[in-house]
Amino acid sequence: MPDIGIIGAGTAGLHLALLLQQAGIHTRIYTNQTAEQVATVRPQNTVSHHAPTIAREEAMGVNFWPAQEFGYQVHYHHLNVPDGPPVFRGDFLRPSRVLDYRIYLPRLMAEYENRGGTIEQRTVEPQDFDQLAGHHDLIVVAAGKRSFTEYFGERPEVSPYAKPQRHLAVGFWAGVDQTDPRAVTMSISPGHGELLDLPITTFDGWASALLFENVPGGDLEILMTQQESDDPEAYRRLVLEKLRVHHPTVFERVEQSRFALMRPGDILQGAVRPVVRNDYRLLDGGTVVLSLGDAHATVDPVTGQGANSASFEAQVAADAIIEDGVIDERFAQKVALRRRERVDGLSTWVNTMIETPTPPHLQQLLGAMSQLRTLCDEFTENFSHPHRNGDMLATPTRVEAAIARHSALAGDPTGKGRTA
Ligand SMILES: Cc1cc2nc3c(=O)[nH]c(=O)nc-3n(C[C@H](O)[C@H](O)[C@H](O)COP(=O)(O)OP(=O)(O)OC[C@H]3O[C@@H](n4cnc5c(N)ncnc54)[C@H](O)[C@@H]3O)c2cc1C
Repeated sequence: MPDIGIIGAGTAGLHLALLLQQAGIHTRIYTNQTAEQVATVRPQNTVSHHAPTIAREEAMGVNFWPAQEFGYQVHYHHLNVPDGPPVFRGDFLRPSRVLDYRIYLPRLMAEYENRGGTIEQRTVEPQDFDQLAGHHDLIVVAAGKRSFTEYFGERPEVSPYAKPQRHLAVGFWAGVDQTDPRAVTMSISPGHGELLDLPITTFDGWASALLFENVPGGDLEILMTQQESDDPEAYRRLVLEKLRVHHPTVFERVEQSRFALMRPGDILQGAVRPVVRNDYRLLDGGTVVLSLGDAHATVDPVTGQGANSASFEAQVAADAIIEDGVIDERFAQKVALRRRERVDGLSTWVNTMIETPTPPHLQQLLGAMSQLRTLCDEFTENFSHPHRNGDMLATPTRVEAAIARHSALAGDPTGKGRTA
């Protein structure tokens, strides 16, 4: 049986470790943060897990937050343009769930250790790989988007941006009423960016995770540059004002007297450069070093996909390890082949969503989604199968074909779209 060294205890590393543990394969996790540290940092993200990830958690015996209770099954969309369409809705077939990762990751770390796994606190660098190869048959780099950025090298054909396309401002806020039914709202202010309002379970109960995806140079960019800690009340008022102007359907649900961060410092400001890196490298002695999760492919969070992708990649890697029991270059190529369709398709989708200005075929799709309920449902359900939205948005012809297909379903022979 091979022995696997995993660097990183995020979703990629933990899901891989738990899957292999279930199969009786020995793993060891090396990570630079203890569970206590993970639980006490500022928010690092606002992660929604979609149905395939939740099904994987169920199979691993770590679905401690059932989506029936903690989840949502609807997306509401709003385009903030004069005479724009009213809010339009898409439904998932199965629910998704947003949970504060400061709760999620430490719980999974504890579970892995309770089941006999070892987590060693250690910062690993590329120069440590030869030493690790003395102990493991495979080294998996699941160390997120900030470490090992140069090690694997990029795939330029799916890494079109030299810098981030959105400047992010995230907060966990009290005082935003939930929609009925509970839903994620995606509000778009053309030229300025998107807002995702996510119903998140935090240490203190339900909150609204407001993820502002701001176009650099737009009116909302200040939400990323103005430091909340300099004057929390001024920042709170700034968020309210930007919500009022740019994202009015979310602002309508705000009770201003209660609008406050759940906990002081529940803010994240930053930016993510989307990039797809190569799948693996071979050490001089032949040991495979595999990239996994964000270390392999980092996407902008506008469509809530990175952790779901990390979990999917963990499954692909675990399956290949379990099937073959041999770790060699053929194993690495197999993993690369199996994950490429989804990873590349996801990148196509997300990179189109954050293109500035918004490409005409994306505008056309969003307009049609506001008229064709089944198209909006398909787009929403594809959050569980993100490469399918990549397929749909890959070319203007493909968008037209999707609209024509759903127009036919709605009995509209013009193919221009009519409400179902
Ligand atoms: C604002 C925001 C919102 C998001 N929303 C969503 C969403 O809705 N849905 C979704 O699926 N994704 C979302 N994401 C993306 C998601 O957070 C990431 O894709 C996911 O967490 C990546 O998991 P990972 O395991 O690859 O890396 P990470 O979670 O970053 O884990 C990396 C691990 O490696 C460790 N580490 C790092 N460097 C070293 C080192 N040198 N040595 C040892 N250990 C090391 C770290 O301590 C950590 O344990 C969002 C991201 C952001 C920023």
